[in-house]
Amino acid sequence: MIQKVSVIGAGTMGRGIAFVCALSGLSVSIQDKYEKGIKDCQTYIEKQFKRKVEKGKLSSQEADEKMENIHYHQVIEQAVSHSDLVIEAVPEIMDLKVEIFKEMDRYAPQHSILATNTSTMSPTEISAQTSRPEKCIALHFFNPVPKMRLIEVICGLETSEETVDLSFQFGELIGKECVKINEFPGFAVSRMNCLIGNEAMNMVMEGVGSVEDIDKAMNLGLNHPMGPLELADLVGLDTRLKNMEYLHQTLGEKYRPCPILTKYVKAGHLGKKTGRGFYHYS
Ligand code: NAD
Repeated sequence: MIQKVSVIGAGTMGRGIAFVCALSGLSVSIQDKYEKGIKDCQTYIEKQFKRKVEKGKLSSQEADEKMENIHYHQVIEQAVSHSDLVIEAVPEIMDLKVEIFKEMDRYAPQHSILATNTSTMSPTEISAQTSRPEKCIALHFFNPVPKMRLIEVICGLETSEETVDLSFQFGELIGKECVKINEFPGFAVSRMNCLIGNEAMNMVMEGVGSVEDIDKAMNLGLNHPMGPLELADLVGLDTRLKNMEYLHQTLGEKYRPCPILTKYVKAGHLGKKTGRGFYHYS
């Protein structure tokens, strides 16, 4: 039974995962290497709880109690030492994830499940240097975490059935639906979604339509709730570029990142989080 969750990396995904876990009554520790990451995460979580109170979904006392159950750390050892489940949500860089997993393995209790929120990468490779590959798995959440109902549960080569069962129970506990996916680059959702987004960027580059019209076409023509370019801005163009680079490297030419995506990332236009991407944000 999962009662204590730790989240490593307090960015776009980590803070959303931490919030949803705390809202469901779990005890949460969240760690980020950078002070700014911690501060922004705390601001985000307080704002989310405030909204719940304003909408009448929680009393302010309930919100305060749940917020008291969230602990913020800069040191990984402190963040994971009492955890039943540790979820890594650091940037999509294999070497970084492997190093973080080694630390999670060193400091988390022996019974803890170690999960990665990678969008595309191999959980087998990420966990290969731990002492407990049978307790390692990928739990792929979606952005924004409080709204999106799916978790893709991806088993590595040695992931045990017990770990899969506990992951499904955890998903249910926090109000999400899980699907079990076999390990392959990009899993199910990212593999399709990255390709759609990249094609939309190529179409902008080729002058097929404006950013707004391409998004509107998918929005109204195919009933996608959000256009592919708006979605890429929400994901973060740096994160999306890393996803595309990994898929290109593992699945081939079809996934070559669109040059506009590379150019925007070089310019520091990373989407909604920096105020500028395919759209401008105030
Ligand atoms: P992000 O850049 O918003 O956040 C990453 C966080 O990790 C930052 O706060 C950063 O300070 C922190 N960090 C960096 N190095 C660290 C370290 N050594 N130790 C601890 N913290 C460290 O990235 P994100 O968009 O949240 O993506 C995180 C993971 O989730 C990636 O693997 C990504 O592919 C995946 N993912 C992203 C989305 C999305 O829409 N953004 C969706 C699903 C999955």
